[in-house]
Amino acid sequence: MEDTIFMKIILREIPADIVYEDDLMIAFLDIKPVEPGHTLVVPKKVSRNLFDMDDETASAFIRATREVARAVQKATGAAGVNIGINNEAAAGQVVFHAHAHVIPRFPDDGLKSWGRGRPYASGEAAAVAEKIRAAL
Ligand code: AMP
Repeated sequence: MEDTIFMKIILREIPADIVYEDDLMIAFLDIKPVEPGHTLVVPKKVSRNLFDMDDETASAFIRATREVARAVQKATGAAGVNIGINNEAAAGQVVFHAHAHVIPRFPDDGLKSWGRGRPYASGEAAAVAEKIRAAL
């Protein structure tokens, strides 16, 4: 797999504001934050996104993300935190080295993380739920 910008940060080839690091994980500030304190949590072992990550890494990833999110909330005084993982370009993934976004949130900060949603048409929920059950 080709090197990504995040591997360059892990290898200290380019600078970043690193806030956490251990053998498996690194976390640093997003260079274009949607709020100050917006942090990326990145497994050092390369995977494209959540789907090809091995179980051990996935487990360490969620634990590190939770710890970093607690610290981001405390440090920024945020009222809440969004944790997001973009999987594939259609979902907004731009850097193809798995990572979680930790975004501090404040009441009325105006950030729209999802559209408004829409109610299901008649029979639509049952049909898609059945497809998901069959895929599991
Ligand atoms: P995604 O759209 O989920 O792939 O998010 C990639 C994120 O990486 C974006 O929010 C970028 O602002 C961020 N990013 C790209 N290059 C850097 C960098 N050199 N240092 C920190 N964050 C970066």
